[in-house]
Amino acid sequence: MTSVWTFAGVLVLPPGLALALGLLIYLHLWLRVWRGMSHRPAYRVVYCAAAIVLSCLAGGAIVAGWNGLPVGFSGSLRIVEAAAVFTAANAFIVALSVYLHTGGRSPRSLFGTGDDNLLEVTTLVLGTSTALGIVHAPALVPFVLLPVLVLHRSVLVRQLEIAANIDGKTGVLNAHAWHVLSERELSSAARAKSKLGVLMLDLDHFKQVNDVYGHLAGDAVLKVVATTISEHVRDYDSVGRFGGEEFVVLLPGATETEVIPVAERVRQAVMAIEVEVVTASGPRTVRGLSVSIGVAVYPAGGPVLERLLHVADSALYQAKRSGRNRVVSLAAA
Ligand code: GH3
Ligand code: MG
Ligand code: MG
Repeated sequence: MTSVWTFAGVLVLPPGLALALGLLIYLHLWLRVWRGMSHRPAYRVVYCAAAIVLSCLAGGAIVAGWNGLPVGFSGSLRIVEAAAVFTAANAFIVALSVYLHTGGRSPRSLFGTGDDNLLEVTTLVLGTSTALGIVHAPALVPFVLLPVLVLHRSVLVRQLEIAANIDGKTGVLNAHAWHVLSERELSSAARAKSKLGVLMLDLDHFKQVNDVYGHLAGDAVLKVVATTISEHVRDYDSVGRFGGEEFVVLLPGATETEVIPVAERVRQAVMAIEVEVVTASGPRTVRGLSVSIGVAVYPAGGPVLERLLHVADSALYQAKRSGRNRVVSLAAA
């Protein structure tokens, strides 16, 4: 939401001062908020500040030829142009950093969700209002703080909502959130008379990982397993952590013939996992993991979620009993 102030700065300040304002805002954020957050390392703060500097320069290049804020319809279009260049520069730099850091390629991971972008546009609109206020009605500028405050609160509520639904250790949905979402998907499937798959996964001999490498290493492995599962299902499939080292996946619209290959793909991906961990005796690599997977499909497996989970659970039990590292489906269970 810093764009409210930085974009207003781009519109009304000389380029040097606009840059200084951007840096001041990031310095303030770092001192007041980010400094104490262990998950926000210094390089990220520096990268964000660099992104804002480059966006200010890009937006500033459009504003450079102006003699004060442009007026009239064509003037409005020029402000929109500056906003577009400012945002495009920022989006490009952020997407590049996400790509380099995580290797993510989907538009959603590179450019954020529709909601994220709507928020960005809203902050630019507020930034423009602030700039217009500064030039034409300075007494009204403090009132911009009201929508900024309300927007800030709604963002906070959304972040809390997300935090309440996510399992802190692995980054996938927690059991409660997965249940709520799955009940909703099951109702849609019932209305649309479509199918839906459920996978229940349990890592094999995971206790040994803890025993050999330590519990913290086990936690790191769980996170990589969760990411691997998420990467090998579709964007609209929901991955949840059921407890311990058990995961569940809901695959809306997936038929029997589609669910098994997905489960197989996940099983093989888990076998290929290698995680660098730190142990009491130094750095080591955990490999040779495997997972057993039980499968159930709606409606053949049952009409309600609890029934489907029971069926997937007994298929999983069967997979464990018949030697682990395998996928067992309802038909075969
Ligand atoms: P198998 O499933 O193949 O029968 O053997 P297992 O050793 O995986 O047995 P089980 O699924 O019953 O045990 C789960 C083990 O997972 C027990 C515990 O040591 C470990 N575990 C559960 N939750 C966590 C966790 O949050 N972090 C770590 N590091 N380990 C966990
Ligand atoms: Mg278990
Ligand atoms: Mg297990």
